[in-house]
Amino acid sequence: MTGLIAQRINQIRQQIPSRVRLIAVTKQVSVEAIREAYEAGIRDFAENRIQEALPKQKQLEDLPDICWHFIGHLQANKAQKALEHFEWIHSVDSLKLARRLDRLADSLPSKPKVCLQVKILSDPKKYGFSVSELLAALSELERCDRLNIRGLMTILPLGLSRSETLAAFQATRSLAEKIKQQNLSNLVFEELSMGMSADYLLAIEAGATIIRLGRIIFGERQGKI
Ligand SMILES: *Cc1c(COP(=O)(O)O)cnc(C)c1O
Repeated sequence: MTGLIAQRINQIRQQIPSRVRLIAVTKQVSVEAIREAYEAGIRDFAENRIQEALPKQKQLEDLPDICWHFIGHLQANKAQKALEHFEWIHSVDSLKLARRLDRLADSLPSKPKVCLQVKILSDPKKYGFSVSELLAALSELERCDRLNIRGLMTILPLGLSRSETLAAFQATRSLAEKIKQQNLSNLVFEELSMGMSADYLLAIEAGATIIRLGRIIFGERQGKI
């Protein structure tokens, strides 16, 4: 018998092109449920809190080919742990954090893959570079050459219509293309990490290369995220 999680994953796979990387977001999700997603073929998993992620990663150590992605706001004092335990950090939300990760990455065997989190629509309650901050920071980011800066990540504010959502994702893509055209060294800019349970189809329509899905795979979370 196929479990509910596997069924949901298979349904999602049928909707999305194979070039799109599907990340299962496992915040507040049990290790058993993560194993079920793994059995259904998922290898990319994301967490948003270091203190929640590390014990779960430990319990899943027998699954060596999992690729872990960090997607939450990263406090300075957890940056080292994030680099040690995650292959990707999608939520580099300030120049200060980028510089810190760059310094710490010196001791790693390979360059960590990161995305720059951009607030494509202004949202005072969210972390991330504003568009103007990001453009102003590019030359400094170029100097963070111990990081493999892969592209942009965005989270949209709540309450947008479908057309506003699509427009915001398209604006993120245009911004990434504009930056890519500058040919900055080590800013590869091939990835667009955008789209969650409520809006991933629109994100893919706008060119997302990575989608991050939680509730649509694992069901509603209890309490706050
Ligand atoms: C929780 C979370 C997701 C997944 O959200 P769902 O609505 O459960 O799909 C994606 N990205 C980030 C950064 C998140 O914190």
